[in-house]
Amino acid sequence: MPIRLLSSEVASQIAAGEVIERPASVVKELLENALDAGARSITITIEEAGKKLIEVADDGSGIPAEELELAVARHATSKLSRSEDLFSISTLGFRGEALASIGSVSRLTITSRVQAQPEGARLRVEGGVAGGLIKVGTTVGTTVRVEDLFYNVPARLKFLKSDVTERRAIDMLVTRYALAYPEKRFKLSDGKNVILQTTGDGDRRAILAALYGVDVAKQMLEIGSEEQGSSISGFISPTSLTRSNRREITFFINGRWVHDVSLNTALLQAYHTLLMVGRYPLTTLFLKIPAAEVDVNVHPAKAEVRFRDQEKIFSFVQRSARKTLLAYSPIPNVAPSLWGTTRTMPAEQPRHTGLDWLIGHDEKLSVDRAEPSGDQRLETDSQPPVSTQSTYSSAGTQEPTNASQNASIPLLRLIGQIGATYLVAEGPDGLYLVDQHAAHERVLFEKLMTQHALKNIPSQSLLTLVAVTLPPHSTHLLITQLPFLQHFGFDVEEFGPNTFQVRAMPALFMGSDPSTALRALVEDFEEDESPLQNEIEAKLAARVCKRMAVKAGQALSQEEQRALLTELEACDSPRTCPHGRPTMIHLSVDMLERQFGRRGAR
Ligand code: ADP
Ligand code: MG
Repeated sequence: MPIRLLSSEVASQIAAGEVIERPASVVKELLENALDAGARSITITIEEAGKKLIEVADDGSGIPAEELELAVARHATSKLSRSEDLFSISTLGFRGEALASIGSVSRLTITSRVQAQPEGARLRVEGGVAGGLIKVGTTVGTTVRVEDLFYNVPARLKFLKSDVTERRAIDMLVTRYALAYPEKRFKLSDGKNVILQTTGDGDRRAILAALYGVDVAKQMLEIGSEEQGSSISGFISPTSLTRSNRREITFFINGRWVHDVSLNTALLQAYHTLLMVGRYPLTTLFLKIPAAEVDVNVHPAKAEVRFRDQEKIFSFVQRSARKTLLAYSPIPNVAPSLWGTTRTMPAEQPRHTGLDWLIGHDEKLSVDRAEPSGDQRLETDSQPPVSTQSTYSSAGTQEPTNASQNASIPLLRLIGQIGATYLVAEGPDGLYLVDQHAAHERVLFEKLMTQHALKNIPSQSLLTLVAVTLPPHSTHLLITQLPFLQHFGFDVEEFGPNTFQVRAMPALFMGSDPSTALRALVEDFEEDESPLQNEIEAKLAARVCKRMAVKAGQALSQEEQRALLTELEACDSPRTCPHGRPTMIHLSVDMLERQFGRRGAR
């Protein structure tokens, strides 16, 4: 084929491809325009996850009628004129590409009015071609309507994820921007329901509740520090609050949401040794950096930036986060308390320390294991650990093992409970320490999965119905999972916006808090999981069981302790919890004898 210039239509679709990837990218560009225009109130309406409609209405400065056609032209912007200005950008937009890009892959209508003009004007653009300008009566501000996104780029449409996922991306985006701009009023609705509404009163924690739910919002730690003209504010999760992916780690730099690997790393370093392997914090951090120190013009969708002094910013983020974490949780390293803590990393530490104290050095252990009689029971079974292999590499679980999945445990005689966390038991060959939480998780999981396999999960009605309010994105997920929940013995009904009523739950979980179970089901839910798949059911079951299981720090009666051991003995894979962590540690008679120096003596 000979070389020729692309038609402007093709060229603009190519350009649009870089800026507009999915419905959420449209929302992001339109939000940024509204914010740049000084809007105090922004109303977003979407239909069919933004595929059918995205409308963003603001009360900002508006666009003069005579400039409207220019606004949708490529490389047309009111925010930048000289190239030097690129290094002192204080607006979110500057590339002059968003409206043109959106206009070339959708049916776009802009209606706008400025204060100085008595009426407004409206312009329609379809597939990149602008129609005539008409005059309309309207209030000051701008409304951009984007219909049938990608209608002329079917290939792009095919790349979009499910409505649930696309919708979630929009919910998350808007909520995060609302959090970044708490003094602005945001309203997001899907035509039927209001998904998010903020008051603009500047209260970030209230918006945080919309993002994560009230419980989580309450636990989030506020961060704030300043250094050499830069500042950081926002929220980070305590070490007890984690997710299985990095998706909840977000940064805003100078009011713009950006993805930056080095910032993520800096943050994770702040959590170093405080989290289990494979667990990640939740953060929403707002960095303010002098404009001259960051280059925002390195990514077509402005999603990435470059720093003049990356080291400096990196260290600033890392130190600020670490300081906050330590200020709120002085536990790590120094004699941590076992009481009342849940199974999170700081609480894990005593487990290691305690062991070292009990059995001395790892070295000795391996000697013990090297012997032919080396005790297999020390080892975890070969279930793939979800996340924690290395953190849990305390005594006895260090080696990968070939022990069969079904390796049983011996009959145990209960001695008692220590630290309200471990059960101590005697077996035919020594002492067993059982982690009550992990053990109970295993017991619940196997019962639930057995009942599930038999298609018979006994469900029990609650005497008092429990209403649970979830954050908007979870709400949507939960609705898609209602049939699945029923399957699992939950009877849950929609009960107003973002609120559900739990009427019954699996009899197995009776006595536990139904709202905890419900939250566990949705919080870590991966974007594209389809609840119909078997392994996902197992994963969800494991997640609920984890929440429902007795916690470390919970005192159990003698009967409860004994029952737990008996039930654990009856399990198919009693040696690990459903997430692959060990339920018990064995100290063999042999090893005890070595430790007490009895062996050599005899
Ligand atoms: P950019 O934001 O990079 O300048 P856009 O294509 O997003 O490019 O917008 C082009 C121009 O249209 C902006 O520079 C601004 O002058 C005007 N504009 C767009 N949206 C709005 C809005 N909501 N309110 C006021 N002016 C707007
Ligand atoms: Mg813009």
